[in-house]
Amino acid sequence: MDIYLDANATTPVLAQAQAAALRAMAQEFGNPSSAHGTGLKARALLDEVRACARRVLGAPSGQLLFVSGATEGLHTAVLSALVALRGRDDVDGLLYGATEHKAVPEALAHWNALLGLGLEVRAIPVGSDGRHDLAWLRAHAPRAGLVCTMAANNETGVVSDLDGIAAALAGSPALWLVDSVQALGKLPLALAQRPIDYAAFSGHKLYAPKGTGLLYVREGAPFTPLMTGGGQEAALRAGTENMAGIAALGAVLAALEGGGVFQDGATLERFRDQLAAALVQALPGLRFNAPPTLCLPTTLNFSVPGLQASLLLNLFDAAGVRISGGSACSAAKAEPSHVLQAMGLPEAQTTSAVRLSFGPACEAAFIDAACARIRACGEALRSSGLSNNAAPDTGLATDLTAGLDDQDATPTELDAAALQALLAAHPAPLLVDVREPYEQQAAALSGLAAPAGAQALPLSRLAQALAGWLALPAATPVVFLCRSGPRSARAARMLRQQGHGNAWHLAGGLALWPGRLT
Ligand code: PLP
Repeated sequence: MDIYLDANATTPVLAQAQAAALRAMAQEFGNPSSAHGTGLKARALLDEVRACARRVLGAPSGQLLFVSGATEGLHTAVLSALVALRGRDDVDGLLYGATEHKAVPEALAHWNALLGLGLEVRAIPVGSDGRHDLAWLRAHAPRAGLVCTMAANNETGVVSDLDGIAAALAGSPALWLVDSVQALGKLPLALAQRPIDYAAFSGHKLYAPKGTGLLYVREGAPFTPLMTGGGQEAALRAGTENMAGIAALGAVLAALEGGGVFQDGATLERFRDQLAAALVQALPGLRFNAPPTLCLPTTLNFSVPGLQASLLLNLFDAAGVRISGGSACSAAKAEPSHVLQAMGLPEAQTTSAVRLSFGPACEAAFIDAACARIRACGEALRSSGLSNNAAPDTGLATDLTAGLDDQDATPTELDAAALQALLAAHPAPLLVDVREPYEQQAAALSGLAAPAGAQALPLSRLAQALAGWLALPAATPVVFLCRSGPRSARAARMLRQQGHGNAWHLAGGLALWPGRLT
């Protein structure tokens, strides 16, 4: 069984939401703009979901638009604000929290350039606790045209002090945009009780399908449509509505309103504490990168000094525990997290951060299973001689792939179908699983073990087998396997360069192993 702990990236779709989407596709499939009965039913559904969203978000007034997700909502809000700032000489800056999701600074830069405004775009600094520097904001608010501050951070879970921000903005001409993606379902929002002009939401972060979202626009706040056309959404957002997605989002909102599906805050905190304890036990020396008391109870961001994020991701993923890098990690290189950098954390932490996040609908039994799996990952690490006290033995001295040119585009990949064909055509291909021993051990926990007959030989140990492979008949294929593809690709390139041209790797990694595709 997979243990999915990456809810801040996306969530599965709630059963009620799936059923609602199916109904909207099969039975109540009308176009809400149609004047006949089928259309009128769809219109009623649209109105019902919007009314529910207004109650859940505390937005009885203003506009609440259905959009394709938070990125669209953020762009619409930024465009609206910036169009209204044209020709104004009382403002000269656009401010955004230094830990915002990239969609915010990118939208600011995009529309500022496209509209030719030339306003200065500046990041509001945050403290080591991840919260906005309110004194800085107060000092810059008088000449700000737009201020963007997220309600809760997607990497760390740090919850912003929205009341403090509102106070810092008192008397400022600035419009206020709040990216509320990670707050939905986890924090009370009461949008209309704060001087928030725009708030963006994304359905897929809370059990609705991808491609759904909401944008709140305060009564009287400037608005410019991103798309014009058929006049849908009161001519504020053209295009036939995504009724299946909206129906599903409606089911999630109804569950939020009705209770019984989502855990209360105290239960989520207990779950978080349980997971934190399991992590500390599994990974001695672990440091949490943000103060839990200031964070959403559903997010833990941590680093383990001496262990790279990629190692932890490989280990957990092999065990079927889906977590993500708190920083953008590639196999070759870990990019530091801009969020943790803004918080002033040391480089060792910013480049090795890992995020674990769960959804507010999860159950106690799931958390128990997750904790057991996390502890087993710690065991796998210890029994293969790795701990945070010892530098990982990557065996670089014997790593035959170390000197490879990563730009070399020698095509060695086989997709699952091609691999199946190769296995069918060849009686005895050699399969080599190049994952590290701790991954192999962890893989036994999840059923992600390598296929029967595969030889286990970590990338760092390929030298041991090279002579044997080079003695193989040219027609014998050697197929390398790893978690997600890059390491097996390097192994295949290495073997070709050494002289055995029939070397391949499974593109996409073991998750796509043929037996697992159906
Ligand atoms: N804002 C935050 C805080 C997010 O976490 C995300 C998604 O990762 C987005 C915006 C973008 O959301 P969407 O995928 O709906 O466009």
